[in-house]
Amino acid sequence: MEVFDVIIVGGGPAGLICAKALCKSDKRVLLLEKDDVFGDKLCAGGLTRKAMAMLEVPDHIIEQKICDATLFSPRNQSFTNTPSPLLFTVDRKNLGK
Ligand SMILES: Cc1cc2nc3c(=O)[nH]c(=O)nc-3n(C[C@H](O)[C@H](O)[C@H](O)COP(=O)(O)OP(=O)(O)OC[C@H]3O[C@@H](n4cnc5c(N)ncnc54)[C@H](O)[C@@H]3O)c2cc1C
Repeated sequence: MEVFDVIIVGGGPAGLICAKALCKSDKRVLLLEKDDVFGDKLCAGGLTRKAMAMLEVPDHIIEQKICDATLFSPRNQSFTNTPSPLLFTVDRKNLGK
């Protein structure tokens, strides 16, 4: 019989990042996911710079780097363009892999 330190139910981003962190600290982790693949869900796949760093997203799964944004307020609208992307998009199944 296999023994685990932690059992995580659900392989969404929260479960996967928990599993990764626990494995890095040498815990034996069992991750249970009810679907056949990780990340098969309705989602735009948009990630901020901070999320990209936290999730350690590899470059090869980045689909889009978004540098342009239009900001709306009740009275104003302004356009911004930054040299480093504000937002990235990834496919959720690739992120799950
Ligand atoms: C239309 C839409 C667009 C979105 N776009 C974005 C976006 O662009 N950027 C962004 O950051 N967020 C976006 N989100 C939000 C994002 O999808 C969620 O914040 C994120 O998925 C939450 O992650 P989670 O791990 O908590 O839960 P989930 O992703 O819901 O993962 C839960 C997992 O648990 C599994 N599970 C459930 N019950 C069981 C069980 N009994 N046994 C085993 N496994 C089980 C499920 O199959 C699933 O894989 C969007 C959401 C929606 C609805």
